[in-house]
Amino acid sequence: MSENASQFENYHPVRGLSYLFLDFNAYFASVEQHDHPELMGRPVIVTPLQSEHTGAIAASYEAKAFGIKRGTKVKDARELCPDIAVMPARHDRYVQLHNLLMAEIQRHLPLVKIYSIDEAAFQLSRSERDPARAIETAKKVKCGIAENVGPAMRASIGLAPSRLLAKLAAERVKPDGLTVLQLSDLPGKLAEMPLRDIPGVGAGVERRLARADITNFPALWALEPKQARAIWGSVTGERFWYGLHGYETVEEPTKKSMIGHSRVLSREYEAPDRARLVARALLLKAASRLRHYGMHASSMSLSVRLRPEGRWETARRFSYSQDSYLFLKTLNDMWTELIQFQRKNNAEGRLGGVTVYLHGLAKEADSKMQQGDLFADAAVAQTDDKRAKLWRIIDQINADPKDKFNRLSGAKEASVKTRHISLASQSSVDLNYLGAKIAFSRVPDEAEFLY
Ligand SMILES: [Mg+2]
Repeated sequence: MSENASQFENYHPVRGLSYLFLDFNAYFASVEQHDHPELMGRPVIVTPLQSEHTGAIAASYEAKAFGIKRGTKVKDARELCPDIAVMPARHDRYVQLHNLLMAEIQRHLPLVKIYSIDEAAFQLSRSERDPARAIETAKKVKCGIAENVGPAMRASIGLAPSRLLAKLAAERVKPDGLTVLQLSDLPGKLAEMPLRDIPGVGAGVERRLARADITNFPALWALEPKQARAIWGSVTGERFWYGLHGYETVEEPTKKSMIGHSRVLSREYEAPDRARLVARALLLKAASRLRHYGMHASSMSLSVRLRPEGRWETARRFSYSQDSYLFLKTLNDMWTELIQFQRKNNAEGRLGGVTVYLHGLAKEADSKMQQGDLFADAAVAQTDDKRAKLWRIIDQINADPKDKFNRLSGAKEASVKTRHISLASQSSVDLNYLGAKIAFSRVPDEAEFLY
């Protein structure tokens, strides 16, 4: 595996606190407090929709004090705290504020990477890497946010030699933390940290670690890179080791590898035929983004959460395409497979969530894509191309009036928007609302911390 060995030549131990990782606290709830000052200092939860049957997707720290957290049902939250403010999510607004916040922080520091709507890593310059200077810079960032955006937008900041360590540092103190983690602090400072709290250690890795007798941080710390690779079963383990020990690579600009959306299903969309409408809407939105980026997809995956428990997943490959009809047809086949699975297993039928992704992306000019097309039927490719053009026109018609409408309706208004062209069978599903879920569903891939 010599090619694996060479990829670590780029890794170098970082001297000093090179990274500032910033994690906004109870982000959605904080935005609601920011926009509604009367909610400052009050218990607030944010729900995916206006319904008593959903669970909170965010809880303010004041709500957390009542034992309310992400996932708490609205009715339980009201029992725990009758005074709670229940706010339906406004994802467009959360994205707007995210952009404002990122712009404000970048007045102080260059951005390295955005991990999710409320998490990002920034780089400290060489002269800022000793603890006193790094802390001074972090305080400037906090002041800038409070003064130029708003005091409701609090963040926990971690300062460390690698992004993974900076993220772990940020996790230490919430809300409003500022934590320095140096290599000399390790493993002692994190000795008590459960392994599962580390990005990159999922349930599977945790089990494999346990089998190797590694059940606490000091034991994890004592591993050699080769052992980490063996336990993870791939080079990912070695990357993890490097991040954990304060090594970093120079971050390359993000290359999109997939586009997709995910959505938790409310009670009215739990039945498979209703959930299918949601899946289709998510897919149409993803396809529209795909065309927007000028990309083509060559595979698609569907993952559904089953109620009361479990998950079912499937994937399909096809020739590179931008055609929503092909994607919808593929989704139909997948859905048939799901229903068959449910019948065979006497599964109850209700679904808790759907995730649809387009993968294997390439631009027209990519050699990857040209190679792929060798296998494609020329006639099929031509039809595909014509349809893709038609979809791009539909995308434009849908995009233009929306912008005007948004300007008229104002940023803080609840999002009431129209799609001008949509599929008849989809008219009961608000595509714009689903589209705005991008930010919410963009859960950072844990592996991203390792690259
Ligand atoms: Mg957060």
